Amino acid sequence: MKFFSGKIMVGFTLGLLALGISSFMWFTAHNSHSGKPTPSVTPSSIPPDLLTEHNSKLASEPGNELKVEPPAQIPTVAYEGQIEHIFFHPLIAYPELAFDGDSLSKGYDDWFVTVKEFKKILDSLYAKQYVLIDIRSLYEEKQNAGKTEIKSKSLKLPPGKKPLVLSIDDLNYYTYMRENGNVFRLVLDKQGEIAAYSVTPQGEESVSRDNEIIPILDDFVKLHPDFSVDGAKGTIALTGYEGILGYRTDQLNSPDFEKNKAAVLPVIQQLKDTGWTFASHGYGHLDAAKVTFDRFSKDTSRWIKEVEPLIGPTNIYIFPFGSKVLPGDPKYTFLLDSGFRMFCSVGPAPYLMVSTDSVRMDRRHIDGIAFHDQKKRLLPLFDVNEVIDERRPSYEKPSVNK
Ligand SMILES: [Zn+2]
Repeated sequence: MKFFSGKIMVGFTLGLLALGISSFMWFTAHNSHSGKPTPSVTPSSIPPDLLTEHNSKLASEPGNELKVEPPAQIPTVAYEGQIEHIFFHPLIAYPELAFDGDSLSKGYDDWFVTVKEFKKILDSLYAKQYVLIDIRSLYEEKQNAGKTEIKSKSLKLPPGKKPLVLSIDDLNYYTYMRENGNVFRLVLDKQGEIAAYSVTPQGEESVSRDNEIIPILDDFVKLHPDFSVDGAKGTIALTGYEGILGYRTDQLNSPDFEKNKAAVLPVIQQLKDTGWTFASHGYGHLDAAKVTFDRFSKDTSRWIKEVEPLIGPTNIYIFPFGSKVLPGDPKYTFLLDSGFRMFCSVGPAPYLMVSTDSVRMDRRHIDGIAFHDQKKRLLPLFDVNEVIDERRPSYEKPSVNK
């Protein structure tokens, strides 16, 4: 296990705005919360049988069956090497809003990538023979004497191809995101495909398939079907405190709740039908390692109560802030008891550990910080000098890869 250094920032704010913190604060894995007010998530009373119900739904959900067998006509070989997992936040659709010099500009420079950068990264990944795989194809759950056991699954890929897992964190479109250059929500366009709705800086409504990860990747795979194994795309990690995918499904008592729910469900279905999977990113974007067990367990249960009914069961948990808790920790046990089996944190290099009860995987953060601090480490994936957007405030002329 490679632990990353304190310099590598692994978190991203997020839980805070909607939870009543008046000023926006950027956090790192190592300085967050110290001496600062911590947001409180209103405890919700979770019926005791809810977790059991969650577990049984996980096992029975047809969508959770793993599809790892490639189409018969494509020759495949067993893949033995390391498995890359990269993640992004929602794309910067409007750099003029993200990099406008306000108090969030530095955060956007640090934590996000632009549309232009994302497209160049995709081109590079494809040229370097990466193929997208479904994170669920790495392991399987088996029942043994009433206990769930995890087994790793062997990966079969076309010769010469390298597996890549992709995830997107916080695809919730929090209020601050809409004000700072991200799109507003995912919608279905006239053709029934996933598109992104936003209002441009000029005040015009826009429905586009060219300014967010999902439609861009969908179109890329249409153009290059060999970039995806069995149509796999990526994993979408969602919190719940400001709703999901741009729909305010957190306001359970709002007169608009049913309308919002009805609007988001077809979007979720289309995502599932086109190779996207979902993960929990906690309800209130808490740092699992730092909060109390009580707070963490309530947060987890609230996510299961509010978000899971919308997206369906998932056994993937993606820690906010790149935080983590390890096997043996009561919080880890609670996550297992809640049905989660795949745990993703953040690290600077591929890491995958399959145990009898769970899987742990690290992800590389692809963002401005990585562009500046990890140029050399990123070379197997892309050359930062070739992808970095000159509109970034921190942009410097290409230099020697370090
Ligand atoms: Zn996050």
